[in-house]
Amino acid sequence: MKKHNYSAGPCILPQEVFEKSAQAILDFNHSGLSILEISHRSKDFVAVMEEARALVLELLGLEGKGYQALFLQGGASLEFLMVPYNLMNINGKAAYLDTGTWANNAIKEAKLFGETVIVASSKDQNYNHIPVDYTIPEDADYFHCTSNNTIFGTQMKSFPKTNVPVVCDMSSDIFSRTLDFTQFDLIYAGAQKNMGAAGATLVVVKEEILGKTGRTIPSILDYQKHIKAESMYNTPSVFAVYTCLLTLQWLKKQGGIAAIEKINEAKANLLYSEIDRNTLFKGTSAVADRSFMNATFLLENPELQESFDKMWKEAGISGITGHRSVGGYRASMYNALPMESVQVLVDVMREFESVFSD
Ligand code: PLP
Repeated sequence: MKKHNYSAGPCILPQEVFEKSAQAILDFNHSGLSILEISHRSKDFVAVMEEARALVLELLGLEGKGYQALFLQGGASLEFLMVPYNLMNINGKAAYLDTGTWANNAIKEAKLFGETVIVASSKDQNYNHIPVDYTIPEDADYFHCTSNNTIFGTQMKSFPKTNVPVVCDMSSDIFSRTLDFTQFDLIYAGAQKNMGAAGATLVVVKEEILGKTGRTIPSILDYQKHIKAESMYNTPSVFAVYTCLLTLQWLKKQGGIAAIEKINEAKANLLYSEIDRNTLFKGTSAVADRSFMNATFLLENPELQESFDKMWKEAGISGITGHRSVGGYRASMYNALPMESVQVLVDVMREFESVFSD
C-alpha cells in the first residue's frame, strides 16, 4: 500500500512523475537508452533542459522580464555561498532576516564575504514567528530572506518593499502559492520538495543584478558563467532535472500555481482547523505566520506520544515526526500530497481524541 507521505523533503511527488521517470530510466524517449546513460549534450536532453528552464519562468510569470532560470547542483546550501559570492561587493554589506535554521546557515556563509547585518531575528522565541519590524539598510548590496521555514513551520505572507535587491530561499514553498515574483531579484530552491528528485537546485535570477561586485568568482560558482552556458557549464544532474521537468509539466496541467494554491490552502486549513479544535494538540507557530507547507504541532500531553504514533503509523501515514529542534510533529503538505492524505491524518487525530480525551 502506498503511504500517505508527509516527509519534509525529499518528499512526495506526483504519481505520474514516478511513472514517467521510471520509464525514462528503462528507455528514454524510445531512444533505446536510459536517461541515466544518455549524454547531457544529446539533442533529447538539451530539449529537457530548455523546456524545464522555460517552464519555470512561465509558471512564475517571469517570461520576458530579464530573468534566467538555472538548474545547478550543491543544493540550496551551496546557494548560501554563491549568493554573497555573486552579489556582495568587496567591502560591501548584505542584510539578512533570521527566521530559522536555514536562514542562519545562509548568514554564516555570508559572513565569510563581508559585513552581514541581521535586520531581525525570532531566535529568542525558537523561531515561532516571522519578525515584521525591521529596516533594511539602504546601502546593503542585497536583502536575503527565507520564504518558508521548513523546520519551524512558519511562512512569510508578505515581503518588504525595498530598493535593495531581494534574494529569497524558496526551497520549501516554491510553486506552491501565487506571489508577484518580480519583487525578487534572485530566488533559489533545492528541487527535493516541490520540484523533483534531490540533486538539482533551481536558481532564478534577474540578469541585471550580476557582474557588479568586482570579485573574481570561481567559474563553477559564477551565475554569469552558468547563464552563458545555458545551465550546462558542467554536467548537470540529468535525472534530477528530468524529474523537475515532469513535475513542472504536471503543475501546468493542474492549472499552474494559482490552481495548486487553492488546494494547498484547503489542505492546510483542514489540518490547522483540527489542530485548533482538538484539545489534545496545539500548534507551535504564530497563527498569522503558519506555513501552508509544513504544519508543526505538539501533543498537549507528551506521555501520549507512543499511542498517537501507533495510530498514525497503522493508518499508513509516514514522515510526520517533528524536527528535533521543535519536537512533536511536522506534517509537510507539498503540492503532490493529496487532500485525501490530509483527511486520513485528521481522522486519526479525531479518533485519538475519542479514545484519549477525558
Ligand atoms: N533552505 C530551506 C528552506 C530548506 O528547507 C532546506 C532543506 O531542507 C535547505 C535550505 C537546504 O537545502 P539543501 O539540502 O538542498 O542544501
